[in-house]
Amino acid sequence: MPQTDTLPPSTPAAPLSQAAPQTGLSGRIVPPVLPPKAADAESLDVWGFKDTAFGINERGHVHVTGNRYDGMSGQELPNLMPWFQSVVGIPMDLSKRLTSAYPCPVAPSRPADAFLAEIRSVLAADQIATDDAIRLRHGHGHTQEEMYAIKAGKLGRVPDYVVYPTDEEQVIALVEAAKRHDVCLIPYGGGTNVTDALRCPEQELRPIVSVDMKRMNRILWIDPANRMACVQAGMVGRHLMEQLGQHGFTMGHEPDSIEFSTLGGWISTHASGMKKNRYGNIEDLVLDVRVVTLNGVLSRTAQAPRESIGVDPRLWLFGSEGSFGIITTAVVKLFPLPPVRKYGSVLFKTFQQGVDFMYALTQTGRIPASVRLMDNLQFQFGQALKPAPGGLKALKSKLEKAYVLNVLGYDPNQMVACTLVFEGDAAEVAEQERTVYRVAKRFGGMKAGAENGKRGYALTYSIAYIRDFIMTLNVMAESFETSVPWTQAVSLCENVRRRIEAEHKARGLAGNPFVSCRVTQVYETGVAIYFYYAYYAKDVEHPSDVYLAIEKAAREEVLASGGSLSHHHGVGKLRRGFLPAIMSPAALEWRRLAKQAIDPGNVFGCNNLIPADDQGAPPA
Ligand SMILES: Cc1cc2nc3c(=O)[nH]c(=O)nc-3n(C[C@H](O)[C@H](O)[C@H](O)COP(=O)(O)OP(=O)(O)OC[C@H]3O[C@@H](n4cnc5c(N)ncnc54)[C@H](O)[C@@H]3O)c2cc1C
Repeated sequence: MPQTDTLPPSTPAAPLSQAAPQTGLSGRIVPPVLPPKAADAESLDVWGFKDTAFGINERGHVHVTGNRYDGMSGQELPNLMPWFQSVVGIPMDLSKRLTSAYPCPVAPSRPADAFLAEIRSVLAADQIATDDAIRLRHGHGHTQEEMYAIKAGKLGRVPDYVVYPTDEEQVIALVEAAKRHDVCLIPYGGGTNVTDALRCPEQELRPIVSVDMKRMNRILWIDPANRMACVQAGMVGRHLMEQLGQHGFTMGHEPDSIEFSTLGGWISTHASGMKKNRYGNIEDLVLDVRVVTLNGVLSRTAQAPRESIGVDPRLWLFGSEGSFGIITTAVVKLFPLPPVRKYGSVLFKTFQQGVDFMYALTQTGRIPASVRLMDNLQFQFGQALKPAPGGLKALKSKLEKAYVLNVLGYDPNQMVACTLVFEGDAAEVAEQERTVYRVAKRFGGMKAGAENGKRGYALTYSIAYIRDFIMTLNVMAESFETSVPWTQAVSLCENVRRRIEAEHKARGLAGNPFVSCRVTQVYETGVAIYFYYAYYAKDVEHPSDVYLAIEKAAREEVLASGGSLSHHHGVGKLRRGFLPAIMSPAALEWRRLAKQAIDPGNVFGCNNLIPADDQGAPPA
């Protein structure tokens, strides 16, 4: 497998006099609309594309369908379930499946005749949906309790109507009509949030309309000379990257959900991508936003590289979670596609050594685009996801394993792995590699090859399917994340693990919980940490509620251990009960007053960001 990706050539840097025509605008490229592809069909009841699913085959092994994901699709994963059962310490009966009652029932749409009559003058018939399955999908994101509720219970209130605007004029008309006819609007991007942000408030008496942005999915222009692009907010990440790539550019924002999440969703949730070390987080990448609000359109006349213009209302959009208006377009920064992309991996004997390495690496200032450190359990998880090797490959892998464990003295229950993506020109990448491996050596790190690194990143997208698969085997699972100063990073991980174990025991749950973490992003001041927590819930009454209560306890522990409420997932309705614990009353009051002034009628009534203690409550 080649370990250096050959990337399409980036646009050569032309002399400024040639690159920037006098008019300033005439050098812009207007890419065509991307045609929809049949292969892009998405599942409604589980994560991902319809062509990919994990299941148990006739040999009792996990099997992955399709051919989308290298190293995973079409493969049998014989080690996965035996390994998982050894971790949770319970033999699982794989023939006992959770019977999916998907789609759960939804209430009939509430009447909104006057609103509908008005919007029918601007929207075509196929831009308004009332189908139950569509309404249901627009009433949730991807939290554990939402995905459980749609299969095993009742989600509760869902949008009464779903509308699909195709341009800003239509969004303005929708907002005006909603204001006039007392309708609640909830913007919808890719529906990938993990904060209950799209869940409809149960007590909402007005008709709720989900404004699905997926037909606003175009790059309006690319300005190659000034390295920016204007993009409609409903454009999905994978399409954006594909089309920018065709012109030799990248935006550099690559969240693990990039296949389905949208630009508008990224801004609204204050997202972060895996390559933020090189390109920045979403707030670093967005130069301008246009937003339709109750007071009109927030817009500016020009995009400057940086401004000092007093308080800038656009900054309130980061993390707004659908509360202030509908983002229609954004101007984003572009970077030439890096001529070289390489992968790498390093093994350390302990998690502490791995964190020490990351800290030292950060101080050098030569940080690769992505560096991730997996704890021991996640390292084992990666091994368990490997298809069984055959022939010579099996022998080689056995010998390598014996060498690492017996000769080098790595403990299989302690060792951790760091995976790396290097991007840049050849000299830059070479310099980063030299730095990484030199620093790693200081902390006892051993180079583990580009192939393992590449595989680690390739797994990112296929792993996302596993949560919904193991739910069918009665395992409740979910991820959560935080950020924390360097000095508290290791203790936070340890405290959270212990707290989950204690909560598990206190409830008399069988076996062990699965708790694993990885350091996903580094900053001069600290790190972002991403946890997986799962437990075997067969015969547990209200398994999803139990999960939620333990996750809440874990979040308390995160805060008590010096972590943030969230590094990139946001607050939504899942974590709003914690807001008073992290913000002073004055800070919360600023937020409340801003919302009241911007949206006095609460047209954008998703009720995210508002402190309310509904932690632990089921969605209905
Ligand atoms: C498998 C998986 C991996 C993930 N990986 C990452 C990751 O690496 N990094 C990360 O940051 N997050 C990650 N997430 C979380 C999620 O993908 C992000 O929060 C993402 O930014 C949500 O985008 P979306 O388009 O799906 O928004 P949605 O889920 O549709 O909406 C999220 C919120 O934004 C609002 N909104 C959406 N579009 C607009 C708009 N145009 N105008 C105004 N408001 C709008 C909605 O009302 C809602 O409140 C992951 C989630 C999953 C399930």
